Amino acid sequence: KALCAAGMIVGLLAFFWRDTFNPDSISGARVLLTGASTGIGEQMAYHYSRFGAEIVLTARRGTLLQKVMEKCLQLGAKKVFYIQADMSSPQAPEEVMHFALQKLVGLDHLVLNHIGGTPFRMWDGDVEHTRWLMQVNFLSYVALASAALPILAESKGSLIVVSSLTGKISTPFTTSYSATKFALDGFFSSLRHELAMQKQDVCITLCILGLIDTEMALEKTRGKVYMSAYPASEAALTIIKGGATRAREVFYPWWLELLCCLRDWFPNQRDVVIQSFYNYTSA
Ligand code: NDP
Repeated sequence: KALCAAGMIVGLLAFFWRDTFNPDSISGARVLLTGASTGIGEQMAYHYSRFGAEIVLTARRGTLLQKVMEKCLQLGAKKVFYIQADMSSPQAPEEVMHFALQKLVGLDHLVLNHIGGTPFRMWDGDVEHTRWLMQVNFLSYVALASAALPILAESKGSLIVVSSLTGKISTPFTTSYSATKFALDGFFSSLRHELAMQKQDVCITLCILGLIDTEMALEKTRGKVYMSAYPASEAALTIIKGGATRAREVFYPWWLELLCCLRDWFPNQRDVVIQSFYNYTSA
């Protein structure tokens, strides 16, 4: 009986997590991708290119974006453009959206992925930094999404928001960053309800990532975190598939979903387990 029950559970999990992604759904799709110069954003740019998308890339550093653009064209992107923008400027989201709509003549996927630099250490009382980070990691997402929504409604498109485990479960050394990611969940999960109530066919996919092996993340967490980092290219593909299949939320690695389910059941044990992953003496 126990074996039978276990088999049924595995079968159900396999059913819910089956891969329904159709690469053709991305071929020719018009994509605006932020934070595209390095890390997971760069990897997403390459995957979208292999699937034959039309892409606008954005970040601050033009030399890096130029290189990413050239590689995207080699990999098969139908069209690629880039625009330099600093999302700490309140005007940047509108300028980027204007550029993207001009170049792509519409939009199917808006991928919000950029983050501002933030220290990985104990809270030191720097309120100004938190204010700045809110602008880059949260308010610019809201502004980009708000400018894109009417266009995405026309194309029945996808709004893909890259978040983190620290946007679902609080962890040490990430006070301001964690706050910006929790804010994304609050805003976009509420917006998802409103779009459904208005019968607007725009999907919102929130992506919950664990530790990923980007240069930035490895450098910050070295000696401070006892966790393995997962490959950026796989994280990028999981995000793209989530958006293309119109998933509500995606988790990478997959077991983060279980962790989030258990989050509120055993809060004390949860906090002890989380603290055991961190080296307090280094921060
Ligand atoms: P990276 O630091 O590698 O990339 C960040 C991107 O954002 C770069 O393209 C950077 O380009 C851009 N950026 C930085 N500051 C600004 C700014 N002020 N305005 C516009 N663009 C800016 O980060 P990751 O690839 O690691 O992270 C990508 C996403 O994944 C983020 O949302 C992050 O929260 C999430 N994530 C990552 C994890 C990890 O372990 N790596 C874990 C959990 C979530 P430029 O400097 O040229 O502007």
